This record gives sequence, structure tokens and C-alpha cells, in this order.
Amino acid sequence: MASATLRHLVDLALPKPCEFGDENFAGDPLVREFCDRLAQAHDLNLHFFVAWACPPDVTIVRSAAGSAIIRSERLDTLLIEYFNLQSVHSKWSDDLAREVTTSAVLRWMSELLIGYRHSGLALLAQRLRPPLPGLRLTSPFRDQTLASVPELERVALQCACLAHEVGHILNPRRPGVTVDESVDGLPLAAHIAWGDQACGYSEETLSALQQHWRQHLNGPALLSEVEADLFAFSSVVEFLCNALSYTLEDSIRAALRAFEAQLFVCACKNTCSLLTTSVLRGTSKGDFVIEDYLVGAQYLARARALVRRAGIVWAIAEQPDASPGTRDFNSYVRRIDSMIVAVQPFTALAAETLTHHAHMLFEQAHFLSQQRDGAWLAAEIANLENSSDLRVELFEMLVAFGCPGSVNVVEYLRSMQMSAQAL
Ligand SMILES: [Zn+2]
Repeated sequence: MASATLRHLVDLALPKPCEFGDENFAGDPLVREFCDRLAQAHDLNLHFFVAWACPPDVTIVRSAAGSAIIRSERLDTLLIEYFNLQSVHSKWSDDLAREVTTSAVLRWMSELLIGYRHSGLALLAQRLRPPLPGLRLTSPFRDQTLASVPELERVALQCACLAHEVGHILNPRRPGVTVDESVDGLPLAAHIAWGDQACGYSEETLSALQQHWRQHLNGPALLSEVEADLFAFSSVVEFLCNALSYTLEDSIRAALRAFEAQLFVCACKNTCSLLTTSVLRGTSKGDFVIEDYLVGAQYLARARALVRRAGIVWAIAEQPDASPGTRDFNSYVRRIDSMIVAVQPFTALAAETLTHHAHMLFEQAHFLSQQRDGAWLAAEIANLENSSDLRVELFEMLVAFGCPGSVNVVEYLRSMQMSAQAL
């Protein structure tokens, strides 16, 4: 039980009007067991809280009264929506798969933009969604959404997210490290360059991009994320294999999918945060695009570092007695690649959709704010007043966010917009 002092510190750390309570892991005893084991293994006085009516973020509080990890209730739901869509993606025709993915990514962006308190952008994102009458992509209820996923994947999804934050508590940022820092035997810079090359850019573009990220990427922050990911990946696979007796292969596959969902949701969150601040500050399109590229480059680098770690975990578990240098890592890389290939079409489409629509939203918001001198936000609200379907969609989103069932959607978004403009 967390002390009153720690609760007070948590209350101070969270943005208002955010609320919080003790995390019950949506009633899942396996996830609670995972967290208890992690705290015990690393001798941590650790407490978990769940927050609502706030951006889908994680906050960490470290103090003499213990450490606290406070996660937004919406995080698990967004992770599972991504996972569920990825699972059914290959069953649809190309056109339907593209429309459903576009609709889902824009819905997530709209929710995140409400989290960042920019209702104008959130409404624009809703307007760009392809109409898909009758198709329900989301449930406002966390427990119900979690129950839609089989045990192995459900536990992996929740534990990956929690263990990543524990990784941050165990490994604080190291000031001064750069992208030349090696992780699992490879410099971070090699992972970033790989991501650029995979995009098929010309030599000149590659060299310009490299110069840019070497100058602007925050080395200590990126390394801290990579180290938290790798700690979490190894912890989750170990728990799934040893405590829950899943096979190593199934555990690695489930953990990789959990981390992929987590990286996408985090990338989407960061892009929406950047979009909000860029529109409010009147940033140029060029500056927004290059800053958004940096967001994406970091998530690609994290994904590559995870895939490498997955191969290493597999090789060591299957050949525990092999002397260093004699393990056939390449055969494990091929096995990991075959796991990734199965879900690659959805992964690529979701990433492409996010970037494309972030740019489109930026352009539209930029254009509208110049044309209508700020009145475009009032026009979006007026459009909302005339669309009952959109009001129902947003009502469910706000309830999922932790708003009471009596919330008036139009008034809520209008008052949020006024506070954003006052910033
Ligand atoms: Zn992190």
C-alpha cells in the first residue's frame, strides 16, 4: 500500500484535471504477479497507479517514500486496438484494409489530440476519416478490451508497457552519451542509419539526414528508451517462459508484437504532441516535417535494437553453454525476421498513414488559421453541432477518457479550445 506521502507526490506530479487511483491491472493476477516479481528481483519499493481524464501518458515519481509509476488508463486500450487490428489485417482486401487502418490511425490521433487539449486538430482528424458505416473499431472499456485478447498476448501487452517504465527507474539517463553508444554490440547510430536506408533515400539525402540527427537527436534520452525497452523485453520473455510455461518461440513472438504496439502508440503520441505545439507556435511546415522525421527515426532505431535483442535472447536460451563467438546468431536473425514478415504489411501501412496524415493535418490547420484568422476552430465546432454521429463517437471517446457520462461534447471541446488558445 502506497504511503500518504507518495500519494501526495503523485497528485502533485500529474497535470490537472487528471485523476488517479491504485492500479488493479484490470483484475489480471498474472500482471500483478509480474510486477511483484520485478519489484522483488530489483529490490524496489514500487507502486503502480492508474490515471484518467488526462493525456495517454506515463509519469514516474521517485522519492524516499518509494517509486510510483502512473499510467493513463487509455494506454492498454490503445495498445490492444492496435494489436487487434494487426491480427485481422491480412483477412481484408487491400482497399478495405487501407480504409480501416486510416480510420483507426486518425481516430487514435483524434483521441491523442484531445489529450493534448487541441480540439480543433482533433475535429479535423475526425473529418479526414473515411466513412465506414457499421464498423466499430473501439470500445471505451479497458477491461472489456483486454478480455478480447488471448492470455499470452494480453499479459505480454500489459507487462511490456509496465516493465519499460521499471527499466527507466532502474537505469536513469546518462548525461553526455551520444548516438555512437553501443547497445548489444552495435552503435545506436547504425540502427538509425538502417532506418533511413530502408526508406530508399538517395546518397545525398542520407548524408543530409545523418548530419541532422547527429546534431539534433538527444543521445541520453534515446539510449534511456532503448535500455528500458531491452530490460523490459528480456523480463517479459523470461516471465512468459518460466512463470507461465509458454514456449520460448511463442513468448518471443508475443513480446515482439507487444513492443511493436507500444512503439507505434508512443510514436503516434509524440507526433500528436509535436503537431499540437507546432500549430500553436506557428512553426513552418519544413521544420515540422523534419522534427516529425526525428520522432519516427527514434522509434525505428528502438525497433531495430529490440529485434537484435530478441535474436540474442533466443540464441542464448537455446545454446546456454556455447562459448562467446560460437553462437550462430544469423540463424536466429532469420527466425525473428520470419516472425516480423507476417505482420509487416500492417506495420508499414500504419506508420505511413500516421506520417501522411500528420503532415496533412499540419497543412490544413496552417491553411485554415491563415484563411480564417482563428475562426476555423469555431467552424469545426459548428460542424460538430450538426453531426450526431460525430457527437456519439466523441462522447464515447470522452467517457473512455474518464469524463462523466453527463459530459456535453460540444461544450467540453469548446472550452478546451479556448484554454489551448490562451496558452
Ligand atoms: Zn520510456
